[in-house]
Amino acid sequence: MNKLYKCLVYDNQVSLSVLETTELVNKAIKIHNLDAASAEILGGMLTAAAYMAGCLKSERGAISLTVKSNDGSATVSVSGDIKGHIRGYIDGGDGGLKGGTLTVIKDDGFSRPFVGACELKTYDVSENLMQYFHISEQIPTAVAIGVKIKDGVCEAAGGVIMQLLPGTSEENMDRAEQRMQSFVNAADVVGKLGADGIMREYFSQETQNGGVYLTFPEYKCNCSRKKIEGVILPLGKNELENILSEQGEIKVHCHYCNKDYIFTQTDVDRLFK
Ligand SMILES: [Zn+2]
Repeated sequence: MNKLYKCLVYDNQVSLSVLETTELVNKAIKIHNLDAASAEILGGMLTAAAYMAGCLKSERGAISLTVKSNDGSATVSVSGDIKGHIRGYIDGGDGGLKGGTLTVIKDDGFSRPFVGACELKTYDVSENLMQYFHISEQIPTAVAIGVKIKDGVCEAAGGVIMQLLPGTSEENMDRAEQRMQSFVNAADVVGKLGADGIMREYFSQETQNGGVYLTFPEYKCNCSRKKIEGVILPLGKNELENILSEQGEIKVHCHYCNKDYIFTQTDVDRLFK
């Protein structure tokens, strides 16, 4: 089961998140039929999205992270909402997506979304996320996300993320930094202990007074026929009729869950009734 633990540690000065996303990554592998390299990249991004979705406050909140390579040949896009429904896709990333731009959109569903972007130097998702938080949100963040793929299956995915709250003492910064050393090979630790075991083994002292929140992120697309109708309607009846006469049907593909929505003449007639 996918898990996300959240709590405050080290005198409530550091926000801790512990993730186990193995199942989530395996579902993505199945839906998208991913090779190992793509699974590792998308899996890391999905884990990052699960973390950021877990930080949302508003009930209508949503988050998306997109990495585009500099030459435009590869894209990875993931998104998630406050329910912990995470989804994503990777396009042309098999050659290894090195560098590019990361764009993060945080939407609370009410006001204008927050958009942050940063240039990437590597394709290490942990480093990229740290860079993003440092540059775009100015929050010191330590990220150890790992994904381990073997024989087409994700053996372990997840990680540990710590964010320093304003006014964190030097002593607690050191404690956080030192503890993060244990998660350099995050996927191995998740594989061995799971999120439960990481909490027990490394943070039991800090969390003995409670205040630990556990949620269960999952791979779930939020597309629906109704939503797709909302996408094609603005094209207008004429344009849709044109597509119908040229192609016989209107096919809309959802990248996130690899599903096709088909609209026939009858459907279009009904839409414009
Ligand atoms: Zn979908």
